[in-house]
Amino acid sequence: MTARILIVDDVMPNLKLLEAKLDREYFEVLTAQSGPDALQVIERERPDLVLLDVMMPEMDGLEVCRRIKANPETAFLPVVLVTGLDQPQDRVAGLEAGADEFLTKPVDDVSLYARVRSLVRLKFTVDELRSREAYATLADDECSILNQPIKDARILMLDLTGDDVNVVRSCLEPFGGVDVARTPAEIVQIAPRIAYDCVILPTEVGEVDGLRIASRLRSTRETRLLPIVCVSEANNRDRLNKAMDIGVNDYLLRPIDALELVARVRTQIRRKRFADALRENLHMSIKLATTDSVTGLHNRHYMNSQMKTMWDNARKESRPLSVAILDLDKFKLVNDNYGHTAGDEVLTQFAKRISQSVRGIDLAARYGGEEFVIIMPDTPQEIAGKVGERLRNVISSAPFRISADVGELDITVSVGVAGIDDGDLDPKALFERADEALYQAKHAGRDRVCLAGEVANAVPQAAAS
Ligand code: GH3
Ligand code: MG
Ligand code: MG
Repeated sequence: MTARILIVDDVMPNLKLLEAKLDREYFEVLTAQSGPDALQVIERERPDLVLLDVMMPEMDGLEVCRRIKANPETAFLPVVLVTGLDQPQDRVAGLEAGADEFLTKPVDDVSLYARVRSLVRLKFTVDELRSREAYATLADDECSILNQPIKDARILMLDLTGDDVNVVRSCLEPFGGVDVARTPAEIVQIAPRIAYDCVILPTEVGEVDGLRIASRLRSTRETRLLPIVCVSEANNRDRLNKAMDIGVNDYLLRPIDALELVARVRTQIRRKRFADALRENLHMSIKLATTDSVTGLHNRHYMNSQMKTMWDNARKESRPLSVAILDLDKFKLVNDNYGHTAGDEVLTQFAKRISQSVRGIDLAARYGGEEFVIIMPDTPQEIAGKVGERLRNVISSAPFRISADVGELDITVSVGVAGIDDGDLDPKALFERADEALYQAKHAGRDRVCLAGEVANAVPQAAAS
């Protein structure tokens, strides 16, 4: 995985040192020597991550970070602050400014690579989610998720010694609630069952290996994306790097600093909620793009894409495939006599009856106006005709109950059915034959099913009008 990384430092040798380290790992490196310079490079070059020195003349790193996070265009860009001193208050000020991570000078190689990789990975995920087509609508909401106070969060912690629980409780209760597990088995059991926002684990206590628990949570489907914050002894560098490799999101050193705990957990919860909102938005836009809003059935666009796959499968394996086109009879009269709202209500109830009576393997879609299509894989035309007859009956056998002032309406439907034929060159040809059969059904007097190729039999002389 490679990425474009911007390094910002006013001191040239620092810049060169970090540049060499990252270059060695095949990252593409950009540099800037002041805050304003950095903001320009960001706007022009769109890097994937910024390593930002805190102490700079003119505009310090905290201010640069605040500006990056305040701009909706760049709020998603991960920022790692590089601090001269390992001072908790620096870190807290940095987190308040919106920084995603810290590194302390002199920068240790392993933690540099681990943190850069984990943030770049997160950035790529967010970018991918954001690039999906119908995404555009949520931009404002997202930024507000990143800035909102945390409410109703559920936090789970593993406390083996009783030392951490009081500080965690008193600091994090305002976010929502803190549940405490007393054994590793307990935490592994509880975590997947409740929608937690964050888990806090010790890296190790006596015999218990917290990283094993973290790895277990990462490999369990329900907790794969759950933020994990580890608490570690200050000297435990190797363990921390290992933790980042496993997928732990962040860590705190003992003794736990209350402000840092609050700031770090808050960042994790915001990030999670942000990613959840993106994912939810993505699901919504996929749903909107594939469903018809009046009837809740699949729309024509979705049906066409599915039809292509079903067609290819049927052709490849020489299996039958049929389509039925359903068109409500004299539907214009419903609109004319009772109004468009009553018409919509009929369409909704129609769709409900149809979708309750098609088989699981069949695909029902609204084709347009008052036309519906059922695609039936593995189904020869004769069987599809029987399905069509059942659907026709489901509509005509009982009246539709519309709102009080309209009352009950008798509705009927005409159905044209066609099964795949060697002569059909593409799905369109199959649809045309089903459409022709539908025309015959209308012509023969409506409220009936016609099969393709059998039209002559299906049209009684007297019914033609
Ligand atoms: P036929 O039996 O020949 O199919 O007669 P018909 O009246 O059903 O056919 P026609 O194509 O003349 O009219 C279809 C009507 O369906 C006209 C249109 O206003 C109505 N329609 C199409 N889409 C909707 C919709 O979403 N809501 C409502 N209420 N009406 C719709
Ligand atoms: Mg009609
Ligand atoms: Mg029509």
